[in-house]
Amino acid sequence: MRILITGGAGFIGSHLADRLLSEGHSVIAIDNLATGHTRNIEHLAGHERFQFIRHDVTEYMYIEGGLDVVLHLASLPSPVDYLKKPIPTLKVGALGTHKALGLARAKKARFMLASTSEVYGDPLVHPQPESYWGNVNPVGPRGVYDESKRFAEAITMAYHRYHGLDTRIFRIFNTYGPRMRPEDGRVVTNFIGQALRGQPLTVYDDGSRTRSFCFVSDLVDGIVKLMHSSEHEPVNLGNPLEMKIIEFAQIVLELTGARSEIVFVTPTDERTKDDPQVRRPDISRARTILGWEPRVSVQDGIGRTIDYFRERFAAEA
Ligand code: UDP
Repeated sequence: MRILITGGAGFIGSHLADRLLSEGHSVIAIDNLATGHTRNIEHLAGHERFQFIRHDVTEYMYIEGGLDVVLHLASLPSPVDYLKKPIPTLKVGALGTHKALGLARAKKARFMLASTSEVYGDPLVHPQPESYWGNVNPVGPRGVYDESKRFAEAITMAYHRYHGLDTRIFRIFNTYGPRMRPEDGRVVTNFIGQALRGQPLTVYDDGSRTRSFCFVSDLVDGIVKLMHSSEHEPVNLGNPLEMKIIEFAQIVLELTGARSEIVFVTPTDERTKDDPQVRRPDISRARTILGWEPRVSVQDGIGRTIDYFRERFAAEA
């Protein structure tokens, strides 16, 4: 198949490109490099089935030839990024999704939307099944991301119902692994970076909020399985193993062997406003429909991520 990935130079997009190329498909990666980086795809330069186009998906996209699948991953998913760039975040979720849908429709291609657990907001139902409509503050600092993704889901379903477009929606829960940006401000990169530099680990507030962390190869497996299915309704993709942020800090200390202390800080900006108290996917649908569930343990996945950052910091030193 000929597959286009928006956000193809990003963390998840580049891993997807690798997987799809290894299965014999052709891949076109589109990215404006706002948060993606050519470092993530430089090993693909010269690959006969790979093409990179630097382009902002909120602008009209012209692609020559046919396409079988449009995978729309372009996004600014880190809270620190979307607090700094609220309008680009809204634009890529809304206008970018509209453009990507238009392209899929013109090419009669399947369209797959990368959505997010943030559509559930600060959830009042735990764990979160796809049937839960969420608890989002539209005017809070996270609203720019959450609402753009909720709009993206709505317009995807509208193209499906009104234009008969063949669509998929997957809701990604916290995912980590090699190629994350060390400076993206998220908990995984902050803690690993701090531990490897011998700095204190910054646990926000009292560290009692929970997240469930999924290794990127497991997520990619789920996306590929969904691509081959015929499921139009949203599907959660994430790891149901939930932990408190303070527990996660201890795991990072253990696996890096760092002797950093853990400090409790209360951010003075808005980054923890409306921060979901708990998050864990109910993956019953993915299990039933796709026969999918995560296989990589936190120890293994975090270990591989630490190795990546060790090498990267050493190369940059
Ligand atoms: N967090 C933290 N210390 C950090 C960065 C994040 O305690 O240095 C917390 C943050 O407040 C949130 C959780 O870790 O409760 C996950 O944050 P992240 O930015 O990774 O993504 P989110 O899941 O909120 O989208």
